[in-house]
Amino acid sequence: MPLNNTVLFRQQAFIDGAWVDADNGQSIKVNNPATGEIIGTVPKMGAAETRRAIEAADRALPAWRELTAKERAGKLRRWFELMMANQEELARLMTMEQGKPLAESRGEIAYAASFLEWFAEEGKRIYGDTIPGHQPDKRLLVLKQPIGVTAAITPWNFPAAMITRKAGPALAAGCTMVIKPASQTPFSALAMAALAEQAGIPRGVLSVVTGSAGEVGSELTSNPIVRKLSFTGSTEIGRQLMAECAKDIKKVSLELGGNAPFIVFDDADLDAAVEGALASKYRNAGQTCVCANRLYVQDSVYDAFTDKLKAAVAKLKIGNGLMDGVTTGPLIDEKAIAKVEEHISDAVALGAQVVAGGNSLGGSFFEPTILVNVPKNAKVAKEETFGPLAPLFRFTDESDVIAQANDTEFGLAAYFYARDLSRVFRVGEALEYGIVGINTGIISTEVAPFGGIKASGIGREGSKYGIEDYLEIKYLCLGGI
Ligand code: ADP
Repeated sequence: MPLNNTVLFRQQAFIDGAWVDADNGQSIKVNNPATGEIIGTVPKMGAAETRRAIEAADRALPAWRELTAKERAGKLRRWFELMMANQEELARLMTMEQGKPLAESRGEIAYAASFLEWFAEEGKRIYGDTIPGHQPDKRLLVLKQPIGVTAAITPWNFPAAMITRKAGPALAAGCTMVIKPASQTPFSALAMAALAEQAGIPRGVLSVVTGSAGEVGSELTSNPIVRKLSFTGSTEIGRQLMAECAKDIKKVSLELGGNAPFIVFDDADLDAAVEGALASKYRNAGQTCVCANRLYVQDSVYDAFTDKLKAAVAKLKIGNGLMDGVTTGPLIDEKAIAKVEEHISDAVALGAQVVAGGNSLGGSFFEPTILVNVPKNAKVAKEETFGPLAPLFRFTDESDVIAQANDTEFGLAAYFYARDLSRVFRVGEALEYGIVGINTGIISTEVAPFGGIKASGIGREGSKYGIEDYLEIKYLCLGGI
C-alpha cells in the first residue's frame, strides 16, 4: 500500500481541529514489527501541546454538551459508517504498525466501530430518576450530566478498539476528550481522528496528541481542567496515573493487567475447549489482557486435551500479518520475546516440558508454545506472559482449582469449560473476576460490560454501564412546592 498518498495515513497530531507538528519539530519513528522497517513518524509532543489540546477541549465542551443526544448520535453514527467504509485500509494500517494478522485487524476495526454505533444510541438513554420526597413540600430529581473534559491513554495491543471504547461513550455523553495513543501504534488513532473530522465532530471535541508518554501523561493527570482519565495498560502505570489523578480527585477508569485462568473440567467438550483455548490464548500472538495465561486441566482429561491442543497449534501459521493464511504475527518488540523466554526457562528449570514450539524465530516472531506439567510455583502462574505461551497445569479437585485460579492480585477475565449445570453455576460464581467465559474463549462485545476487579482495574467499558463512567450524578432537591 503506498501509505504516503492515503488520506488516512497521517504523520501529524490532531489538536483543536488542526493537523500539527511538535513545537520543537521532534518526531518518533514507528516501525513495522514484522519487518523492522520504519513506516513513518509522528510528532514527539510534550506538555505544551497537550495543554493546548486540553484547553481546546474545554472551549469545545459547552456547545458539544448542549447538543441533543440525537444530534451527537448522528455524528457518531457517521463516524462509525466511515470506519466501516474504510475497514480494509484501516486494517492494513493496523497490521503494519501492530503486527496482528489482517483478518484480526479487520475484526478489530469492526469491533472498534461497534462502540461508536452502540454508544451513539446509548447516549439517548441517559435516564435520571425521580425519587418520592422525604417531606410533603419536596420533590427530588436525579440528573446525569457529562463529566466534562476527559483524557484517554491507550495501549498498542488494540490500537483502534481501545480508543473507541473510551471516545464513544465520552462523546455520546457530551464530554470532550484528549487521547494519547501508544507510541508503537499511533497511526490507527490518527486515521480514526481523520474520520472523526470527516464525520463532522466539531473542532476541539476530540484531539489526538502523540509523544512522550511521561510528559503528555503528566499534563493529562495534573491539568485541573481534565475531570476524568480513562487508561488501558499495565497495572504498574495505572497505579502511577491513579496516584497522579488523586491530587485533583479526578475520576479514573482503569483497565489493567490480567492473569486469566482457563480451566478444563473432566465433563467439558474437549474439542470446544481446544477451540476456545486457541482463540483465547493465541489471538494477537497472546498479547491481550484477557488472553488465557494459565491453563488448568483436570487429571483424567489432561493427556487428551494436550494432544488435541498440540494438533491445533501445529496448524497455526506464523508470519507477516499481511500475508494470506497467517494466523500468528510477530510480537510487538524484543522485550516481549524476552518475557516469553523467561517464563519458559523458569518453568522448564522447575520441571515443565516443552511439547510444542519453544523457540524464537528471529525478529520479534515466537513460535506458539505449549508447556506441560508446569508446577504451581512457576513464574507464569503469577505473571502475565503477554505472548504465545500456553502453560498446562494439572489439577484434581474443583475447589482446589478455584483457589489456584483466584490466587492472584488480578481479576480481569477467567474461562472454564464444563457441562454439569450445578458446576457451571458454582464455578462461575466462585471465580473472582470481572468477566467469566463459560464454554467460550471469546467474550468481548460492545453490548456487555468489560472490566476487571482487584488490581485489574476500575470501571467498565461497553454496554449500558460503560457510559456511566462519563457521567456525574446531580441531585436536585426542590422545596416549597
Ligand atoms: P503496555 O505494557 O501495554 O505497553 P503501558 O502501561 O506501558 O502498557 O502503556 C500503555 C499506555 O500508557 C501507552 O500509551 C504508554 O505510552 C502509556 N504510558 C506509559 N508510561 C506512561 C506514563 N508514565 N505516563 C502516562 N502514560 C504512560
